[in-house]
Amino acid sequence: MSHTNLEPTKDTKSESDRDARILRQGRKLFIREFEKQLKQLNSLLDTIQSAPAADELNQFYRIIHTLKGSSPIFGYVRIGKLAEDLVRIWEWTQSLDSKIDEILVPISPVEESTARSVQILREMNMEYDIGLTEIQMDEQQDPGGGSMLGSLKSRLLLVDDDGVLRSYLTRRLQLDDCVVDEAADVESATKLLRQHTYDLVILDLMMHPQSGYELFEFLKEDPTLKWLPLIVLSGRNDLNDKVRCFHLGADDYVTKPFQYEELAARIYGLLKRTKNFEQLAFRDPLTGVFNRRYFDLQIGMELQRIERYPAPISLVFIDIDFFKKINDTYGHHVGDIVLQGLAHLLQTNLRSTDLLARFGGEEFVIALPNTAMEQAVTTVQEILNKVRANPVAQYEGRTFSITFSGGVAEWQQGMTVAEWVSKADEAMYQAKQQGRNRIMGAVQEENAAHSNKAATAQLVQKKNLLIVDDDPILRAILTSHLEHLAITITHAADGEKALDLLLSKKFDACILDGMMPKLDGFSLLEQMKKDSRLSKGDMKVLMLSGKKKEDDVVKGLHMGADDYMTKPFSLVELEARVKKLMNLE
Ligand code: GH3
Ligand code: MG
Ligand code: MG
Repeated sequence: MSHTNLEPTKDTKSESDRDARILRQGRKLFIREFEKQLKQLNSLLDTIQSAPAADELNQFYRIIHTLKGSSPIFGYVRIGKLAEDLVRIWEWTQSLDSKIDEILVPISPVEESTARSVQILREMNMEYDIGLTEIQMDEQQDPGGGSMLGSLKSRLLLVDDDGVLRSYLTRRLQLDDCVVDEAADVESATKLLRQHTYDLVILDLMMHPQSGYELFEFLKEDPTLKWLPLIVLSGRNDLNDKVRCFHLGADDYVTKPFQYEELAARIYGLLKRTKNFEQLAFRDPLTGVFNRRYFDLQIGMELQRIERYPAPISLVFIDIDFFKKINDTYGHHVGDIVLQGLAHLLQTNLRSTDLLARFGGEEFVIALPNTAMEQAVTTVQEILNKVRANPVAQYEGRTFSITFSGGVAEWQQGMTVAEWVSKADEAMYQAKQQGRNRIMGAVQEENAAHSNKAATAQLVQKKNLLIVDDDPILRAILTSHLEHLAITITHAADGEKALDLLLSKKFDACILDGMMPKLDGFSLLEQMKKDSRLSKGDMKVLMLSGKKKEDDVVKGLHMGADDYMTKPFSLVELEARVKKLMNLE
């Protein structure tokens, strides 16, 4: 975003300059492609004239249909009209299905249609000449600027078999600071969707050989892609198509030809709405700080990082003193304002790497990475001093002061998140017992302390489970569901990371996703079989896969998997299977 120039007239000017430049680029590309298409049309028409065949007719029709949709987008209205005429002339071939060959002989309006087409193609050739001359005449460059769409920094997937339109849209979207990946068919689109995380998909319905509907099916079957915002681009302004798309879960439907500005505005609106959903899902609506759900997700990742790069981390549990009194005396509304005030004060006094979340009613938790117990106590004590010194809220001319009690616990090797939180909670409770308005550090148990012996003893006791899945939400769900078991859970987001972990540590069991980018579950199993350093030993492997085909189950089991489940699965069943595999209970 470069809104350094505050003069509105200049901004508008540079924007329109930029638009003009983008349009020029698009026109250039279009004309280049148009030249090829014209050549193809001419030669196809020759063939059709001498020996009409379904293949050639369909190819001819496809090209004129594409031209009809794409040319007006680049301002070639005349070409669009001509293509429209051609489509009208050849429309009759499309209602004959695949039996064209047989029907052609008796009816044979081919002659008449070709005669009219020859004329139109000639006109198109002239349009091409004009277009080319136009492009050769102007050659200019100016730097790009910011845009609404750009402010969202999104990654989009564009699926369209029309190369000209695709590259035009990509360029325009890139100039709007979007990261754009292109796919010309369903197959490459599905591949990309497995490899990257997208914010939105733009999908052309009429594609060859597979139609856009097939991508729809793929998206809706995958639980992680099901909610991905989707805009359908279609050459047909057809009610049935529209209804079908919305039923299938499309978020918007745009008919070709369209103006880029309109499409960009629709993308922007959709992205903004879904980004808000994300915010809603992870933020506490009253105070705006993170909610417990987000805390649970984040803290798991934080601990995983610490397992790799050991560093102290402390957790603070905060509970407002006599909060009920505030509610009872001044009303719930004042209570709410006090909560907001404290949340604000906490947030502004923490580092950006600290994780603050509202845990429940008047309870907050803070995770302080790279902070040992004593330092954490000092930090929270300083915040408490500020809370004591200044009212946290103001309402109808009155100010409200509070105090809070805090408990601090430093994470120790082998501790689960639940144990850690309850340790900080206990310390907070001690602070309440001792008269509130103070911070207490949790007692560091001798045998659980950092001494290597104790740590190893605990590691030996606890069984290790490795969860390998590229879906972070699924990893978090699995962890939160399994963490009550007496096991230590480690995550890997892809097969390569899992490989590193398997080389450096012994695991008792592994939940392995079959479909992942980089190195998928099946290939990982294969490597385990081959690589002696990885020898699976008595580690149990539970394969998770989106594939339901029996072949895959057999393949997985042959490769050494001990158990196999297909997504979507029941968490209860998964837990039972993990327990059995790990010999728990
Ligand atoms: P203590 O010092 O022992 O913590 O006393 P307390 O009064 O703070 O503790 P208690 O747990 O008895 O009271 C918590 C109160 O917080 C009860 C509940 O009505 C109130 N509360 C919980 N959530 C909200 C909220 O979102 N807004 C408001 N205004 N009050 C809330
Ligand atoms: Mg409470
Ligand atoms: Mg309280």
